[in-house]
Amino acid sequence: MPINVFEPKSQFINQKNQIINAVKKVFKSGNYILSKEVLKFEKKFSVLHQAKYGIAVKNGTDAISISLKVLGVKKGDEVITTSHTALATIAAIISTGAIPVIVDIDKDFYTINTNLIEKKITNRTKVIIPVHIYGQCADMQKICKIAKKYKLFVIEDCAQAHGAKISNKSVGSFGHISTFSFYPTKNLGAIGDGGIVLTNNSKLEKKIRKFREYGWDHQRRADNPGINSRLDEVQASILNIKLKKFSFSKKKRISIANKYLSEIKNKNIKLPKVKQNTTHVFHIFSILTKNKKKFVKYLIKNKVFPGFHYPILAHQNKGYSRFCKFKKSELNYSNKISKFQVSLPIYPELSNKNINNIINLINNYK
Ligand SMILES: *Cc1c(COP(=O)(O)O)cnc(C)c1O
Repeated sequence: MPINVFEPKSQFINQKNQIINAVKKVFKSGNYILSKEVLKFEKKFSVLHQAKYGIAVKNGTDAISISLKVLGVKKGDEVITTSHTALATIAAIISTGAIPVIVDIDKDFYTINTNLIEKKITNRTKVIIPVHIYGQCADMQKICKIAKKYKLFVIEDCAQAHGAKISNKSVGSFGHISTFSFYPTKNLGAIGDGGIVLTNNSKLEKKIRKFREYGWDHQRRADNPGINSRLDEVQASILNIKLKKFSFSKKKRISIANKYLSEIKNKNIKLPKVKQNTTHVFHIFSILTKNKKKFVKYLIKNKVFPGFHYPILAHQNKGYSRFCKFKKSELNYSNKISKFQVSLPIYPELSNKNINNIINLINNYK
């Protein structure tokens, strides 16, 4: 049996009866949009991340672009972030007319290099978007300090970091706003699309809630325009079921990662590092290897199908370059990681037998 980098179906199979019952209940209820299940999910998910408010939306990209919009970001404004991220982060920024300003990543942890942020700040800079890439926490204390000094907003892109923590404080509770995706392969995944925006600021919460649905208030009147980006009741009901097992799934991912970290021993493979005093939730278990082509061929020959995050940096995409502000010579580590990076299979349902297979395979690689 092939082993894939992600296996979203295994989570459905694992909770099949509960998921089908939950979905049936929604079908029979006749309430399909912004009803009980969405409200319940918004409450539970925001509590889990120590945030006061949660506003569920259609996907993680919308979560970011809505956040930028309600913070007043306009055409020509600048948003500082990394391009060693899902294309979604950059797509969301560009969709608002703002300019992604690309900063290099930290050499060991792959999150934004906070020493490089200040010199990129101009009078057009409005927001910093740190990405908790692979499930590793960005250096939020430092980022928030810089943001405060220059009066900038911080949006945490938590799409890969559900449940990650710095000391005992959850990601998503540091910035002014934080965004999550429930794309099926994420650490909490829907069976379809989903996303959420979290905030502790009641004014922002109201703006986001209105913007999500045409700009409507409780009386269905709109003082400002909005869009339609609602999470639906069916996806919310599935997420509510999966949320019950979330803490178990998170522990499972971490334990698989720890097994890889302690048992993979091969001088051709560089294992990931975890920042001190943080909980890395290992959305992706990312290794580096000099001869990537050879290593990948070897894995595939042995029926292990790895992933790549990301062989093309966001700003290198043909359709994106001209919208981004970057200097190629300043992106040393982003470039390096994109060349040598391989993602090993990791998901809570990965069997011990398969984990051991992968470890043995890698240890025997020459
Ligand atoms: C998945 C992801 C998103 C958003 O994804 P959607 O597909 O729109 O839900 C945003 N940022 C990062 C880093 C991601 O991994």
